[in-house]
Amino acid sequence: MRTEYPAGTMELTLAVKKIPACPNCHSPEVARKGARYRRLKAAPIGLMPVVLKAEVPQCQCKSCGKTFEVSPPLPKPTCATPGDWAIMSLP
Ligand SMILES: [Zn+2]
Repeated sequence: MRTEYPAGTMELTLAVKKIPACPNCHSPEVARKGARYRRLKAAPIGLMPVVLKAEVPQCQCKSCGKTFEVSPPLPKPTCATPGDWAIMSLP
């Protein structure tokens, strides 16, 4: 399914600044293997529609080899640790 947004839509990227420790063995030695993006509609700013592009990094533990994804702190931002995330405007 694909949604087209009209010109004038503001797109924000929610990027992960810090990869957490391995959920399996808690080793901090974790490598990024890539990422995919989850698109979410956010509250409009004024009359401008806003789309959030949340990065979902794919990671692999260097210690035990387990692969895992880092879910963005959505749809419950209050449960997140905001210091590990940054909202950036796309150029
Ligand atoms: Zn591990």
